[in-house]
Amino acid sequence: MGIRNKADWRPLAWLAMAAGLLAVEYTWSHLVFYLFWLNCYFAITAGVIAHNHNHCPIFAGKRWNGLLGHVLSFFYGYPTFVWVPTHNLNHHKHVNRAGDATITWRITDRHNLFVAVTYFFVSVYHQSFPIKAFIRKAKATNPQLHRRIQWQYVIWLSAWLFMLLVGINLHGLRRGAVLWGLSIGLPALCSVWVITFFNYEQHVHTDPWSKHNHSRNFTGSLLNYLLFNNGFHGVHHDQPALHWSKLPAAHGRIAAHIDPVLNQPSLPIYCVRQFLLAPIWHSLGTRQVGRAPYDARGSRTSLACDESELGEAGSNSEMAAEGRVPN
Ligand SMILES: [Zn+2]
Repeated sequence: MGIRNKADWRPLAWLAMAAGLLAVEYTWSHLVFYLFWLNCYFAITAGVIAHNHNHCPIFAGKRWNGLLGHVLSFFYGYPTFVWVPTHNLNHHKHVNRAGDATITWRITDRHNLFVAVTYFFVSVYHQSFPIKAFIRKAKATNPQLHRRIQWQYVIWLSAWLFMLLVGINLHGLRRGAVLWGLSIGLPALCSVWVITFFNYEQHVHTDPWSKHNHSRNFTGSLLNYLLFNNGFHGVHHDQPALHWSKLPAAHGRIAAHIDPVLNQPSLPIYCVRQFLLAPIWHSLGTRQVGRAPYDARGSRTSLACDESELGEAGSNSEMAAEGRVPN
């Protein structure tokens, strides 16, 4: 099996706990009404683990990495291959500038609760284009990759359907459907929403042209423990292949060079200030740091995702690591 970094026992333990929680809820279905928030948390961590695994595969072996991809897809709520076209080959390349499918300023540059909450729909819609282009390209040039993508969809949907039928079989139609919804469906939706919300907050009003101010960091120790150091986003952009366990130390080495307003110690306090207080006291809200992402100043960029860039080997993803990204 061969784990490449011993720190990865923790995300694996988290996934085992997520599976254990499901087993408990499927046995004693009334517990799901008290524990579904924990399912939501584990689904969010599955998204974070999928991101980390995509940059830095957990296992040395190809087969185990593929298997883990299916487990992550189940909890995260979507086949994990999508991280390659939307994240590695797109977001990491353009970093919130034109061409990034997940830009925070597509409709408005305002930063308030409504924009932050609805960013999910805008982002997901525009991510569908690089995903479709990636699948088309795999179909045309890399049948093996295309088959693996198809299998991710088939296994993910079959596993979800299987769990729905098990719930109905054990607890009846209504109770079984509610059990599935609260333990799998809602947590998955919560996970993809939270992941896109994080992406929004990590980049809104930052300066993608700057060496150190291209991302916002959330440095609190509890958040970073619970989400595998996902708060240290700037240094992750600087070194995408660096293992998540090494991000705090790497962040510490450059923290003094980052604009202090981009190193936020607490995500909850930041959200209260931004969404509840700033609408009344405007000075408490975020403001553009440095040069805006849409201030291209002669750069040759385009809002549309260029299909030709999807084959660039600019990622360290599991698929790229296994030679599965078509060149
Ligand atoms: Zn990344």
